[in-house]
Amino acid sequence: MASYLNTSVKNGCFGCEACAQVCSKRAIHMVEDEEGFRYPQVDQSLCINCRMCNKVCPYENMPLKSQEEKVAFGGYIKNETVRRESTSGGAFSAIVDTWCDTNYVIFGAVADGVKVYHSYTTDKTDMGRFRKSKYSQSCIGSAYKDARKFLDEEKKVIFSGTPCQISGLKAFLGNTNQDNLLTVEVICEGVPSPHFVRKYDEWMQLKHGSKIKVLDYRYKDGKKWDFQVMYTSLESGHRFKIDRWFNPFWSIWLNHLMSRPACYECPFTTIGRVADISLGDLWGVHLYCPELYGGNGGASLIICNTKKGKRALASAQRELYGHELDFTTALKYQSPMCKAINQNPQREMFMKDLLEMDYKTLCMKWAKKPTFKLLWAKYVWGNRQKVFVWNLKQKLWR
Ligand SMILES: Cc1cc2nc3c(=O)[nH]c(=O)nc-3n(C[C@H](O)[C@H](O)[C@H](O)COP(=O)(O)OP(=O)(O)OC[C@H]3O[C@@H](n4cnc5c(N)ncnc54)[C@H](O)[C@@H]3O)c2cc1C
Repeated sequence: MASYLNTSVKNGCFGCEACAQVCSKRAIHMVEDEEGFRYPQVDQSLCINCRMCNKVCPYENMPLKSQEEKVAFGGYIKNETVRRESTSGGAFSAIVDTWCDTNYVIFGAVADGVKVYHSYTTDKTDMGRFRKSKYSQSCIGSAYKDARKFLDEEKKVIFSGTPCQISGLKAFLGNTNQDNLLTVEVICEGVPSPHFVRKYDEWMQLKHGSKIKVLDYRYKDGKKWDFQVMYTSLESGHRFKIDRWFNPFWSIWLNHLMSRPACYECPFTTIGRVADISLGDLWGVHLYCPELYGGNGGASLIICNTKKGKRALASAQRELYGHELDFTTALKYQSPMCKAINQNPQREMFMKDLLEMDYKTLCMKWAKKPTFKLLWAKYVWGNRQKVFVWNLKQKLWR
């Protein structure tokens, strides 16, 4: 399939940056379009037509997807501090901690205000900055090249990212020996336009005269994992918290109004996966494995796609509370494992407004207000209450 590199059709680029990194002439730069998504731009005066960029493009040459039988595991890390600092149940930290013994390098996404980029560390006590989902496409920078260098030096490399970034890495690595590489992907529902949080940042500057210092998209606020609270802290010290159902970001993004064009046709939303391990939230926990709800402190779904992934989970299990799950049941609550998101027919209109309107006007127009029924379901008779009743019944019947 011809990619964006040849057609300039935006659906044909995941923004994984493999092409930019492989170019020996540095002829390719990632440049933002008007929607804020980065695409490769080729400087024809430097290009020697070697076609390496096409060769490593996962859109053109999809790396092999593992069709091995999977192991699904649900649970959370026993260390409560790490669990609180993680998005879901802290599965990533458990895997890192047990897999990284000596001579290792950890790659992941870090945040700087509202910017997100890939980085690495050789010290696992410093991996806290990788924790927490930053719901914006991270800049890969030189991460694939760095990973290759470390693999060539026979270091153990754990690389985490979105499914398209893992595919970009795999395509980039080609014949490099990958015995020491463990890839961990997040189950991904697409990436939103970074313009939205920038607008939010501008709004904060206007209202409070200060920029965003920390944007925690999944603050647990004690034990409110499934409330998906967003926490914003400004340089001035102002702090804000907002639950999922009142948050314009979640409303607009999850209505699929501002995802990257390629996400609407994402070819990674299949049962076959490129990464060794896929990590997500244990959505549906209150329905099919309430014993893993753990007081709403966060729970992880871990899918092992390869033998290497299964070995990593086997070691990580000593740090995890939980058990194996039926894969087909787990899949019922994980649509990004099975199908791409639908493009909202109003996306184009929204994107136009995103460029022109201020944050408040934009949210007033596009963010949906929660219905009374929804609020009742979440605050009065929600997952917490259902699990409480389930626990009570267990105790009474014992
Ligand atoms: C854009 C995005 C969409 C997602 N969509 C879903 C979904 O639809 N359903 C679902 O169940 N889970 C989804 N997740 C995954 C989920 O939010 C958690 O990241 C995952 O469960 C791991 O949680 P944890 O507690 O094990 O790890 P944590 O310690 O919280 O670690 C987070 C991990 O995510 C990686 N990461 C964080 N931000 C980014 C980023 N911007 N780009 C690449 N990697 C990143 C870090 O490198 C780290 O490996 C998504 C994550 C992202 C980043």
